[in-house]
Amino acid sequence: MKPIAVVVHGASGKMGQEVVKAVGREPGMQVVGAVDMKPAEDTLAIPGSSARVPFSSDLDQILSCTKPDVMVDFSLPAATNAALPVAARHGVNMVIGTTGFTAADLDEMSRLAQQYKTGIVVAANFALGAVLLMHFSKIAAKYFDFAEIIELHHDQKIDFPSGTALATARGMVKSKGHPFCLPAAEQGKTASGRGTQIDGITVHSVRLPGFVANQEVIFGMAGQTLRIKHDTINRECFMPGVVLAIKDVLKRPGLTVGLEALLNLQEA
Ligand code: NAD
Repeated sequence: MKPIAVVVHGASGKMGQEVVKAVGREPGMQVVGAVDMKPAEDTLAIPGSSARVPFSSDLDQILSCTKPDVMVDFSLPAATNAALPVAARHGVNMVIGTTGFTAADLDEMSRLAQQYKTGIVVAANFALGAVLLMHFSKIAAKYFDFAEIIELHHDQKIDFPSGTALATARGMVKSKGHPFCLPAAEQGKTASGRGTQIDGITVHSVRLPGFVANQEVIFGMAGQTLRIKHDTINRECFMPGVVLAIKDVLKRPGLTVGLEALLNLQEA
């Protein structure tokens, strides 16, 4: 069978380089082109092989000459938003890992996918363990009234709480149907010196060199606690999710947000 042809947008970035490596070694898929701001050369070497593929800052030109099935994007929201209509016009499916989109950005992705009959998978976290942590936390949320989250990331991460911590907390509250309970001393207060409060869940954000992305959700009730924890040691952790999305997006027209549907996780 013909391999799935992939173009990587943001190919010189930390995630883009990991995607080039992962797709390059995955049977049944192939990197056919790469795009980034200022490529030093007009071809990019694929690690672990002798292959070189066209590399340019001109997305339109790369898509015209390589005709990929899927474009994987790890760049910046503004760069993704500019790339979206170009890729859609070429009928290219998209796997988007860039974070920081607004609701209006997601609406536009959905509109483009419908108009050009393509598939778009956008996920703020491609680490399958983190997606499962969020799912298990939604299940546990129904049974506990108290919960806190500790998220630990590398010192270059500027936003806090992390997008994953926010999504976890919001998912837990939605599943529960009402806010969690704060400790008695903090009830009625909108802010806490201990962390960011999201509907009764205090989120503690740690930023230190040495971490990649880690999160623990701790539930408490009289006489017992339940801890659900996910740790990563390098960016390879995101690649099984990216590879899954590249295969799945071909069968999934329209916009899919998050990996839950790809993993057949029912709404908890
Ligand atoms: P990075 O800064 O190392 O890489 C971004 C790359 O995009 C750079 O090479 C940059 O030159 C390129 N770029 C910027 N503007 C461009 C444009 N107009 N055209 C083409 N290329 C352009 O960042 P990173 O650590 O690789 O992260 C990239 C994005 O992925 C961020 O939004 C980050 O939050 C997100 N991320 C998502 C996940 C996930 O699981 N979804 C995991 C890690 C990082």
